[in-house]
Amino acid sequence: MNTLHVTHALLSTGWAENVRISIDAAGTVSKIETDIAGANSGCLLPGMANLHSHAHQRAMAGLAERAGSTDDSFWTWRKIMYQFLQAIQPEQLHAIAAQLYVEMLKSGYTRVAEFQYLHHQPSGQHYDNPAEMSLQTLQAARETGLGMTNLPVHYQFGGFGEQPLGQQQQRFANDPELFLRIVEELQHASANDANVVTGMAAHSLRAVGKQGLSTILASLQKDSALPVHIHIAEQTKEVNDCIAWSGLRPVEYLLDNFKVDQHWCLIHATHMSESETRAVAGSGAVVGICPATEGNLGDGFFNAVEYLKAGGQFGIGSDSHISVSPSEELRWLEYGQRLLHRSRNVLAGGYERSTGRTIFDKAVAGGAQACGHNSGAIAVGKRADFIVLDTNHPLLCERSGDELLDSWIFSGNSNAVRDVCVGGKHVIQGGHHAQEAAIADRFKSTLKTLRN
Ligand code: ZN
Repeated sequence: MNTLHVTHALLSTGWAENVRISIDAAGTVSKIETDIAGANSGCLLPGMANLHSHAHQRAMAGLAERAGSTDDSFWTWRKIMYQFLQAIQPEQLHAIAAQLYVEMLKSGYTRVAEFQYLHHQPSGQHYDNPAEMSLQTLQAARETGLGMTNLPVHYQFGGFGEQPLGQQQQRFANDPELFLRIVEELQHASANDANVVTGMAAHSLRAVGKQGLSTILASLQKDSALPVHIHIAEQTKEVNDCIAWSGLRPVEYLLDNFKVDQHWCLIHATHMSESETRAVAGSGAVVGICPATEGNLGDGFFNAVEYLKAGGQFGIGSDSHISVSPSEELRWLEYGQRLLHRSRNVLAGGYERSTGRTIFDKAVAGGAQACGHNSGAIAVGKRADFIVLDTNHPLLCERSGDELLDSWIFSGNSNAVRDVCVGGKHVIQGGHHAQEAAIADRFKSTLKTLRN
């Protein structure tokens, strides 16, 4: 039996003081007591799931910020990203992911949904085990102690209407049969591991066919549902191309052709009409917003006010990893809406409500749901995935209750995350990970090789 005893905690029932949490040997919360003397300073929060990650992109973060000769866009960025990922070998992906996952833990994420589409050798030939690349990220998650929802990505076509893949997309290519083998390998590799969930992703409506995806979903959902993620409407070009092909906007097409429910996560539901916004909110699905990446790529603004008014659920992701920080993602989610609506505390959800509290609560709950994992709240029976903020940090001193969240999210970049616990295991202590130096050295030598 493991215990945590801190001065402040955000429980599923609200704020409490001098809280002692007991965690059983399996990593689940077994008892919560409040007002117990002898607590250590600190603010215990439920851990945040990072619901959208492409680990390999961590290696090129910051390398696409030089203006090109033509208008820079998502599509010119994608060209650079494709050139970069051609070189990445399995052990290099492991080294990159391990560095990224240490960074995630240190910033306050306790789980990652790894949307992994780099499956094969550059020629398209698969490795001996076709799940090799996803197994590398799984190993990196286990090495660092980060919880993982593994989302191998089905990617079969190069554009709407089942266009052939380009030369640089051969590493992503699977037919439904090979894709199902990859999922099976990953399910096998993580059976009985309570920190790991295996789900699946369809890359986008551009990259999958209706029949192929239906076959995959029917096969995987035979016994029980699993998380299903998809990139849906990140770019206006994608929306226009979808209309030209099908007569429908991407979200309309998805809702018309697939049974979208609480197991689905729609990544970058950036461009939705009013009726799409209401329909997604009513479906029970989670929308995955990645404000730092969406800003970096010039995607546009998500319809957050209407979506939340309609009861929609969302979570946050660091996607391309130009920032790895839940507090920064939440800050930019709100700042984007302030800039758009020329107003303040746009997402607070009512008079005198704390913006930080509202968006933190929603992102934690939405992240856990999208990851298909029994976490996202501090309550008996939930997994012990927590972070502890340092209440002696200059940003957080003399703060209590929701002020702690507002100050953490809206007042600066200095990291106030002191401790992180995943499945009851203390993986970050005093701001440090036990293997951070060795993992950083391996990452540096990997980058040296890749850049040569
Ligand atoms: Zn993405």
